[in-house]
Amino acid sequence: MTKTITFTVSVPTKEGFLGRACHSSDCGQYFKIYIDHREEHMYCPYCGKQFSETELYTSDQKKYILEAAKEEATVYAQKELQKILKETFGRSTSSNSGFSVSYKPGKINKRKVAPKYSERKVDSELLCPSCTTRFQVYGVFGFCPGCREENLLIYDANWSIIKREVDDSKNPERALRHAYGDFVSAFEIFCDSKASKLTTEKGNFQIL
Ligand SMILES: [Zn+2]
Ligand SMILES: [Zn+2]
Repeated sequence: MTKTITFTVSVPTKEGFLGRACHSSDCGQYFKIYIDHREEHMYCPYCGKQFSETELYTSDQKKYILEAAKEEATVYAQKELQKILKETFGRSTSSNSGFSVSYKPGKINKRKVAPKYSERKVDSELLCPSCTTRFQVYGVFGFCPGCREENLLIYDANWSIIKREVDDSKNPERALRHAYGDFVSAFEIFCDSKASKLTTEKGNFQIL
């Protein structure tokens, strides 16, 4: 008989935002969703693919959840074992030989499992005007993770990200080269979304 035991592990957030990682091996990029705005299915803001909410855990979160669940399972197993021993040897037993066994349960110490990571810093926070999902991204992106909406707000945000990269840089030439790559990525996202409405053919941009 298989028995399923359910434990609740709470995953830490940063200022109300939960880190997420795209489940696609081609993308795998990091973003954050406001904790109350999570839906059963969400989209990656970078590649636009849809995933179930449970597929979006980051590797740090998965490690922490597994470690916390292992500790819960260990405590549960110890309690079950104590129950069995108590039922068997709880009362002093004596036999004809005069040999007696008694059992006193010891204290179970639950180890406190704390996460060894904190959510990463990203550079932009957005609120989708269509579905009101609050999310945070790093660098250029193409979609709202809540509704996959592509709208002008996203192109505006991408433009601000690119401008900020250049302004904040100590090495403007290098930043400009990087910004140029980001600018082409933003343009590719725009062209892809427009093309998908006109044709099923898929274009291919040269990777910079
Ligand atoms: Zn993705
Ligand atoms: Zn949206």
